[in-house]
Amino acid sequence: MGGTVWREHGGRPDVIVVGGGVVGCSIAYRLAADGRRVLLLERRGLAAGASGRNGGMTGGGSSLHAASSVGRAVAALTAANLALLRAVPDELGAEIELRLPGTLDVISTPEQHAHLAAAVASQREGGGGIVLLDRDEARAVMPALSPAILGAAFAADRGHLWPFALVHAFAAAARRHGAELRIGSAAERLLRAGDRVVGVVAGGERIAADEVVLATNAYTPALLPELPPGAIVPARGQILVTRPLPPLLTVPFGTNFDKEYGRQTPDGRILCGGYRRLDAGEGLGATAERVSPPVLAGIARCLTGLFPALAGRARVARAWAGIMGFTADGLPLLGPYGPAPGLTLAAGFNGNGFSWAAAAGRAVADLLAGRDPGLDLAPFRPDRFAAGGAAWRNPYTAGEGVGERGAA
Ligand SMILES: Cc1cc2nc3c(=O)[nH]c(=O)nc-3n(C[C@H](O)[C@H](O)[C@H](O)COP(=O)(O)OP(=O)(O)OC[C@H]3O[C@@H](n4cnc5c(N)ncnc54)[C@H](O)[C@@H]3O)c2cc1C
Repeated sequence: MGGTVWREHGGRPDVIVVGGGVVGCSIAYRLAADGRRVLLLERRGLAAGASGRNGGMTGGGSSLHAASSVGRAVAALTAANLALLRAVPDELGAEIELRLPGTLDVISTPEQHAHLAAAVASQREGGGGIVLLDRDEARAVMPALSPAILGAAFAADRGHLWPFALVHAFAAAARRHGAELRIGSAAERLLRAGDRVVGVVAGGERIAADEVVLATNAYTPALLPELPPGAIVPARGQILVTRPLPPLLTVPFGTNFDKEYGRQTPDGRILCGGYRRLDAGEGLGATAERVSPPVLAGIARCLTGLFPALAGRARVARAWAGIMGFTADGLPLLGPYGPAPGLTLAAGFNGNGFSWAAAAGRAVADLLAGRDPGLDLAPFRPDRFAAGGAAWRNPYTAGEGVGERGAA
């Protein structure tokens, strides 16, 4: 049944999903496939937010919580996500250019070496498929790496994909299952009956539904102002892209506490991002999707420093900025929002939406159907910051000692 059909018959949606990024589209697909009448509202365009402006790395999850029950929950979510991504071509008939050759976290200072040696040991304790390589071993995996590097951590089961294609694959599948995706439609506010959320107001229209899911990432506090300050903070990231080059990067890479990262697309373009610390205020609190020359210059230096063959050879084709939703502990807010029955949150995906969104979609559909999602979602409880507010410390500054810093 098409989404417009249920509307024409005077029906109302069972579930309203707000947000047309990878998370919202993944959720809309799973709910519609479950037979729910779904209305997705997206105020700009599909993948117009972070989901269309990211690096496309996947499988990494978050290493901030290794070797703890939280780390195990993150690893399980990441593994479930990877399994769903692998299934996408057959399940949805979509080519998302998923490549999983493993990734290298490149070490170029003794400080990074000490940090990664400890991180690898603790991730191995938690069962992660990760090994520390010396310089020659790392250069055997990716010969283009500079001989000046000190080594790298190689993590299996990680790689990259084409983010835009994944979002559109989920969106198309949601439509095939009868969801209505209303583009250019902003949810202005939640409709409430007492504590309960009973719908949204969009374009002045009051739209009632049994359930509302906010997949609005960085923009969630605007619709849910009672979230403690700092629970989700916008953070600007920037990416630089070269014109197509012959194959050079055999695997995606990260470096400098994973703050810089990059990959080569199957058609030869090299994408690289990072250097947020050269943005005003590290890009925290920024909502303008605007690039800044110091950040782009830092990214270019990172590329030519790690891969000397690129110096004088790579041509920049374009650059862009996008806004992430950072949380105080680097983990998403995923599940029913306790203080407001009828409301589910799936927001705050930090720099890892493509490691978690597919699994998050299925988990939300399971929760709303009363099924056991088969995942430990306790660490992602959306109201976990309620008690004392969010004690905010940029999780991505953790582990960094003296590094390159620019004028704020
Ligand atoms: C530069 C950069 C690099 C990144 N690199 C990676 C990477 O390599 N790997 C990785 O996994 N992740 C990466 N990320 C993070 C990743 O992009 C996000 O985690 C992911 O896209 C989050 O998806 P989302 O659907 O939650 O959010 P978004 O894609 O931001 O979608 C939210 C949507 O909600 C809509 N919206 C907001 N408010 C309303 C409203 N009131 N009404 C209607 N619609 C509304 C917005 O328009 C937007 O389209 C990166 C992000 C950036 C910016």
